[in-house]
Amino acid sequence: MTSFDLTGRSAIVTGASTGLGNGIARALAAAGADILMVDRAPREAGIDEIKGKGVRTVSLLADLSRQESIGEIVSTAIREFGKVDILVNNAGIIRRAPAIDFSEKDWDDVMNINTKAVFFLAQAAARDMMKRKYGKIINIASLLSFQGGIIVPSYAASKGAVAQVTKALANEWAQHGITVNAIAPGYMATNNTKALREDPVRSKAILDRIPAGRWGTPDDLQGAAVFLASAASDYVNGHVLVVDGGWLAR
Ligand code: NAP
Repeated sequence: MTSFDLTGRSAIVTGASTGLGNGIARALAAAGADILMVDRAPREAGIDEIKGKGVRTVSLLADLSRQESIGEIVSTAIREFGKVDILVNNAGIIRRAPAIDFSEKDWDDVMNINTKAVFFLAQAAARDMMKRKYGKIINIASLLSFQGGIIVPSYAASKGAVAQVTKALANEWAQHGITVNAIAPGYMATNNTKALREDPVRSKAILDRIPAGRWGTPDDLQGAAVFLASAASDYVNGHVLVVDGGWLAR
């Protein structure tokens, strides 16, 4: 199992104190990585769980809708840990409204966090990773990287772009020892899907289609995250790894 070991590695995880980002940050810390937890509004409970893993953790408040945050995040990781080995571009938002009424703000806000920040944070991290010819970038995609969804047009556009940017960066940076891959979670029980889970009709329709018969949890991403963050995936480039209880197979 040594190829999965992350001892001595340093990771940046955005949106690390809640939801899927917290599950991923806990997994990377359990595998031995130091973690820079980037949050807009940190939650003590999520931070405490990672602090208990015996690795170094640093918490940084940053708003990814501001371009200035990108440089600050990477420079903090370098100042605290000396380098960036792993970047998990997890933070993301969703806005729900019919396409016919969809506002420019809901389009721009979602594209800025889910796509623009993902690209520029990857760029800033890769500039450091290239110095050592080693790096692992994991972007969080979605089933809506493949499907259109319902009343979430900017989210579908942004996550389609995440899958394509993942491949584009993988092609350019493999020669520098950097792998760029994505995880596409299925329907997971987090704040992001609260409205869906509270709608009895949509919730039943979703559950009926999932072969595993349940919503996913942040813990369900742990294996995929450690795999893509570790040497175990050194020859995996530009892949979008679906973790969805079988949804896409239906
Ligand atoms: P979540 O619980 O809502 O977490 C989203 C995280 O992103 C939060 O930590 C949030 O911080 C952070 N964030 C949002 N806007 C930010 C900003 N401007 N600056 C910094 N951080 C910001 O939802 P989640 O389900 O864990 O989502 C994590 C990722 O998985 C997202 O990219 C999402 O699209 C993706 N995903 C989720 C599902 C699902 O079913 N849940 C499925 C596929 C993909 P605050 O809470 O402080 O705003």
